[in-house]
Amino acid sequence: MGEFDLIARYFTRPVRRAVLGVGDDCALLQPRAGIQLAISSDMLVEGRHFFAGTDAYRLGHKALAVNLSDLAACGAQPVAFTLALALPRVDEPWLQAFSSGLLALADAHGCELIGGDTTQGPLNICITVFGEVPAGQALLRSGARAGDDLYVSGHLGDARLALECLLGHFALPPALLAPAQQRLEAPTPRVALGQALRSIASAALDVSDGLLGDLSHLLRASGVGACVDTSCTSALLATQVAAGQTGQPLETERVRQCTLAGGDDYELLFTAAPGQRHAVLAAAQASATAVTRIGTIEASPGLRLMDSQGQTITARYASFDHFA
Ligand code: ADP
Ligand code: MG
Repeated sequence: MGEFDLIARYFTRPVRRAVLGVGDDCALLQPRAGIQLAISSDMLVEGRHFFAGTDAYRLGHKALAVNLSDLAACGAQPVAFTLALALPRVDEPWLQAFSSGLLALADAHGCELIGGDTTQGPLNICITVFGEVPAGQALLRSGARAGDDLYVSGHLGDARLALECLLGHFALPPALLAPAQQRLEAPTPRVALGQALRSIASAALDVSDGLLGDLSHLLRASGVGACVDTSCTSALLATQVAAGQTGQPLETERVRQCTLAGGDDYELLFTAAPGQRHAVLAAAQASATAVTRIGTIEASPGLRLMDSQGQTITARYASFDHFA
């Protein structure tokens, strides 16, 4: 099977919203009047972002999910994407599973595959997504103000916990590992929540590199600081809830490391004025996505962490980028 048969077989779909899809030198999009295009790219490299031998269906899902997560963070509605793919060889069962995972998530979000590039080389997947947002309404990192509440969606830290297990640094019973591994390999982009938060959130970004690291980007862009209650963030490790039910909770330290500095969460971190609390809850309900208030934005720059007793946790937690 040659390059063009491969593209035709696995990556060519009729387009409905785009003016032109796969097959010409460019695809064509026609944004409606008053709409801005939100554009983002993310690359997944074998051995760096995923293990060789990762389930191909999940890999297809994740490659698009991490891009949709960026659109979600801006409050944009997914429209279309391109796929640049380097493949070591033509492996049809792999391509079938990969494209199925990719296109199932694409269909779930009405996001059309409109073009790309295919080449031979070490496995590398680069997607560029295009989304629509009403002009001037995109959620940005720079809008947080002192006094705003700080929220995060969904769960935190399970992906990191699964990664530690797959690396052999830690062990979980299979019943706990499976859902955590699913979070790592097939994250859920919070697309509906992002759109529901337009004109409610003052700032937003998606958590891909770890909560505190990504929060620091938002704080810097907004010129503010924050206080985070770690008893709220620690409660967001889904694996801990399940482990607690079996009577074998994880150590506080590991829970903090995974939730505060884990990575691969693909949750939305956002701020909103206290007057928006009802609106935030309504947005969460409308998008069937849990949100948790984890702290407060403050005028003085920097990040302060509190424990469940309200005691300040020393600054070393803020520097927990990765496990030693
Ligand atoms: P060109 O040489 O003009 O850049 P290509 O021969 O690389 O075009 O690709 C032919 C068509 O197939 C183009 O429309 C391109 O966008 C599309 N295409 C190539 N690879 C992919 C892919 N992996 N997924 C979707 N479309 C692709
Ligand atoms: Mg060309």
